[in-house]
Amino acid sequence: MTTTNAIALVTGAGRGIGAATARLLAKEGYFVCINYRSDAASARALAMSIGETGGKCQVIQADVSQEAEVVRLFQVIDQLPGTLRVLVNNAGLLKTQMRLEDMTAERINQVLATNVTGPFICCREAVKRMSTRYGGPGGTIVNVSSAAARTGSPNEYVDYAASKGALDTMTRGLSLEVAAEGIRVNAVRPGLIHTDIHADGGEPGRVARLSELIPLQRGGQPEEIAEAISWLVSDRSSYCTGSLIDLAGGL
Ligand code: NAP
Repeated sequence: MTTTNAIALVTGAGRGIGAATARLLAKEGYFVCINYRSDAASARALAMSIGETGGKCQVIQADVSQEAEVVRLFQVIDQLPGTLRVLVNNAGLLKTQMRLEDMTAERINQVLATNVTGPFICCREAVKRMSTRYGGPGGTIVNVSSAAARTGSPNEYVDYAASKGALDTMTRGLSLEVAAEGIRVNAVRPGLIHTDIHADGGEPGRVARLSELIPLQRGGQPEEIAEAISWLVSDRSSYCTGSLIDLAGGL
């Protein structure tokens, strides 16, 4: 697949792993759609820096936990020059660290709406545009899961971990549904990566605290996850679908 006229949508791309992915895909020639939810300043700053280095991109606000907003997001993409070939379901959130017995239904539902329903609806819209079943040219989807799907994140956020487990199962199931329709679906499962998500969980220094437990003895950088995503969306991974790639420094 050539990147000429190819559009790549990265959800939650204003910062962290999404921003690193958007930057790398733009460098590789994709027209990148930088989706964000609330932090317009970061998304616009990223778009400006991509533009300054010759990349092409567009910033699109949409809360992926809201079905109508996802539908609108894809309608905006339909108007762009080029064809949607790549979806990176990166947007995700976690809440303050606590034990399961202290969690409210409101919190759990918010985590699941963003981390599970959002990617499901984004995949639905992407498949309708990419699948040869609907006359599309094919494409690739990468879900940003987490090592939490394996560990369960006890005493921190079991709801978040379970949402990533659901994403892994969706990755496998959807990959089989669309394998004969020109679409490959895979997931990356990062471990402890230096981004602001840990501050949202109430512990900005979490990666540093846990670093000595990581076999590689350090947290990962968002760019190290972006490299794997870049490989998965490209033809370099042409025989890979339904796979979950662990990027956790050995954890
Ligand atoms: P981050 O720095 O907190 O960035 C998350 C981004 O997602 C933010 O830019 C946020 O946008 C966006 N977002 C959240 N809810 C959204 C929604 N409903 N609609 C659209 N965008 C939304 O986190 P990150 O660490 O880069 O995480 C990216 C992905 O990697 C997540 O799926 C996360 O679960 C996963 N992950 C991270 C780690 C890690 O250690 N960092 C490990 C494993 C997996 P706004 O700021 O505009 O609201």
